[in-house]
Amino acid sequence: MLGLMQYEQMMISDFIVHAARHHARAEVVSRLAEGIHRQTYRDTELRARKLAQALGRLDVKPGDRVATLAWNTYRHLELYFAISGSAAVVNTVNPRLAPEDIAYILGHAEDHVLFAEVEFAPLVADVAGRLPAGVLRTVVFLCAGHAVPRVALPGGIDVMAYDALVDAEDGDYAWPRFDERSASALCYTSGTTGRPKGVLYTHRSTTLKAMAMNAADAAGLRAVDRLMPAVPMFHVNAWSLPYAATIAGTALVMPGRFLDGASLYRLIEDERVTFACGVPSVWLGVLAHVRKTGARFSTLQRMAVGGSACPESMFDAYDALGVTIMHAWGMTESSPVATVSNPIAGVDPATARRQRLSQGRALFGVDLRATRGSTEVSWDGETSGDIELRGHWIATGYYQLPSGTTPDGWFPTGDVGMFDASGFVLLTDRSKDLIKSGGEWISSIDLENIAMGHPAVAEAAVIAAKHPKWDERPLLIVALKPGASATREELLAIYEGKVARWAVPDDVVFVEELPHGATGKLLKTALRARYGDHLVRGKTAGASSAEPPPSIGAEDVDDEAPRRRPT
Ligand code: ADP
Repeated sequence: MLGLMQYEQMMISDFIVHAARHHARAEVVSRLAEGIHRQTYRDTELRARKLAQALGRLDVKPGDRVATLAWNTYRHLELYFAISGSAAVVNTVNPRLAPEDIAYILGHAEDHVLFAEVEFAPLVADVAGRLPAGVLRTVVFLCAGHAVPRVALPGGIDVMAYDALVDAEDGDYAWPRFDERSASALCYTSGTTGRPKGVLYTHRSTTLKAMAMNAADAAGLRAVDRLMPAVPMFHVNAWSLPYAATIAGTALVMPGRFLDGASLYRLIEDERVTFACGVPSVWLGVLAHVRKTGARFSTLQRMAVGGSACPESMFDAYDALGVTIMHAWGMTESSPVATVSNPIAGVDPATARRQRLSQGRALFGVDLRATRGSTEVSWDGETSGDIELRGHWIATGYYQLPSGTTPDGWFPTGDVGMFDASGFVLLTDRSKDLIKSGGEWISSIDLENIAMGHPAVAEAAVIAAKHPKWDERPLLIVALKPGASATREELLAIYEGKVARWAVPDDVVFVEELPHGATGKLLKTALRARYGDHLVRGKTAGASSAEPPPSIGAEDVDDEAPRRRPT
């Protein structure tokens, strides 16, 4: 048909070209060990072009995977655009994983070139020693020529300095155009069980996702914003924020490896950050710092929080500081943002609050459903099921593995939740974290949320502990705030009237600190391994629960009608 619209392949290089042309002076600020580094989007695009030339000189070909072990800094941003933009695939690797897993990832992805922070030199040596010969050909340290660390690598691996590599080029390079369905990035899920599995993003999926992120009721980034992604670029492309920011011309404020509460607070203030994103544990750290020092935010207005459930008490604490939290949900396989909670018109205040605390509604471009067996559950706000996803930025499966979708094309998320009539998702749990007590499902997220509302609690986890009668019962594990105190009875009393009696935890374990995994989330596997037998031990060896548990199983209660999972 004549007269149709123009057609262009969606290319990730277009983001940075757009930012360089239309937001040339917008800043990329990076906190490095040696101090603050500043450059503009125009500088970033030129340096990414030079880096793309250098990749060619390193014999990186279209479709080749190139690994990064790096913090959020301007160099990692340049790598994102240079690698994907030159038709190779950026394989971001999480440096907090065990060396064995990192070696598995590099071997599985067949990364011949690795870009790594200087401080990871010992890790790089460890990992390189575990790889089959011939996988790794070149290690480029993210530093100036004089700062390359001494590192003992197996023979045949070249070591280079990033800045020297970039500075040797003239930038005479044209970004190629190719099929928008080509792979652009590869991120392995942390894999709490089994080997890590690679999720392969495309230029098209990334472009559509980044544009959807910029809708007003999603992240809605603007050129007047200064965005601090405190989510790592080494995991799930930092929630697509580097892409969404370049599309909008939003300044980027990169915290590097300085993710403690005091450092993040300082950077937010010094760099006039208006919007910040990260997992709840990061914002707990900032909150603790603000409370301790009595500090206030002078520019921060909004925060996107996700990766694990944002506790209700955190919404309230940041509201009181003048910062609005937006809750988001997703996973590596959904690029990752699938839903975002933002207010809608025409609901009563109680519903509005419930919706705000929920995981939010689907972005345009993805669809959700929850199923029990082969039946889709209705959106009644109380029937939960296994959540499945379909859409432009949802994985079909994993790199080099057979498809993981259902026969009708939906991706099973492993999360369990329910939808209200307006489509807001309320996540109950990860299916493997649900507490299955006497045939009932108890949500660990709900119980953690309530515990976090106690003023003495710094962080709370609820796990399924083995129980002789009910199979599993909830066990609350808490870390108290420094100097604060609370008894087991006080903590259990806060559940009264908030949950059914059979859902109240059986016991409380007090710990100094809760364990976190490589992406900052509570490591429930470690807690289950350590405390899974707590209630059984309590019975036999007389551990902390000398008195009978305060909660009872469902069959002893007739005034409650618990949700029942069909068998
Ligand atoms: P991994 O930790 O396996 O690398 P992801 O980073 O992909 O995985 O984490 C995805 C999971 O994190 C989701 O499936 C969900 O269980 C949990 N999650 C993410 N966001 C939220 C949220 N807002 N509330 C509750 N859980 C969340």
